[in-house]
Amino acid sequence: MRKNIVAGNWKMNKNLQEGVAFAKDLEAALAGKTLKCDVIIGTPFIHLASVASSTKLGVAAQNCADKASGAYTGEVSAAMVASTGAKYVILGHSERRTYYGETDAILKEKVLLALANGLNPIFCIGETKDEREKNVHFDVVKKQTVDALFELSAADFSKIVIAYEPVWAIGTGLTATSAQAQEMHAYIRQIIADKYGKEVADNTSILYGGSANGGNAKELFACPDIDGGLIGGASLDVEKFIPVIEGF
Ligand code: PEP
Repeated sequence: MRKNIVAGNWKMNKNLQEGVAFAKDLEAALAGKTLKCDVIIGTPFIHLASVASSTKLGVAAQNCADKASGAYTGEVSAAMVASTGAKYVILGHSERRTYYGETDAILKEKVLLALANGLNPIFCIGETKDEREKNVHFDVVKKQTVDALFELSAADFSKIVIAYEPVWAIGTGLTATSAQAQEMHAYIRQIIADKYGKEVADNTSILYGGSANGGNAKELFACPDIDGGLIGGASLDVEKFIPVIEGF
């Protein structure tokens, strides 16, 4: 059966000391609670090793290079991420696609390298406001999924976590309604079933991201095809993150 997951994405926030303190505080605050989900923290690269050695919670990088190694100044490879103890890598976030020109072809390479190095990609897909208004949101999400992921074997695909993040909802305070999110999650699960079969689809965790918080997590996570969240703003404070984790 698929896992419930709540993953934080700190983006470019917190210095190293703040990051390590957060990880310790979160773990302490969760100790003794019965959690119904796995908890992951998505930190900047420089925090990974220290955070991974400070907590038993899952740790994710927010990106990795599309090359294995070599003369790529400033890049961080999937192998380097794996060597820190991080087990996950967020790939295809809309901020990476928009500000750093990451195409489906580039993301496909990143996914392959992440998998080859034993990392589980948390792969983000989602439409812009304009695309939703033009009613092409299903086509957009399908193309992002097919182009970056559907050449994977079923065994490799089963290591992927999908995050549906409507771009218009990220950091805007506009959350997709639970009906809008459930409709898209069910659609994503169906295209996975069409490609890899029902068992793989039923075992794939599909997270929702986009202004999710302690106030709306319960309703979102109650939907049958929503298996948790990728959380930006509300993952930056322990007090705000815990109600999301407790949304299950
Ligand atoms: C994100 O960055 O993936 C995200 C969903 O951000 P926020 O929760 O702030 O909308």
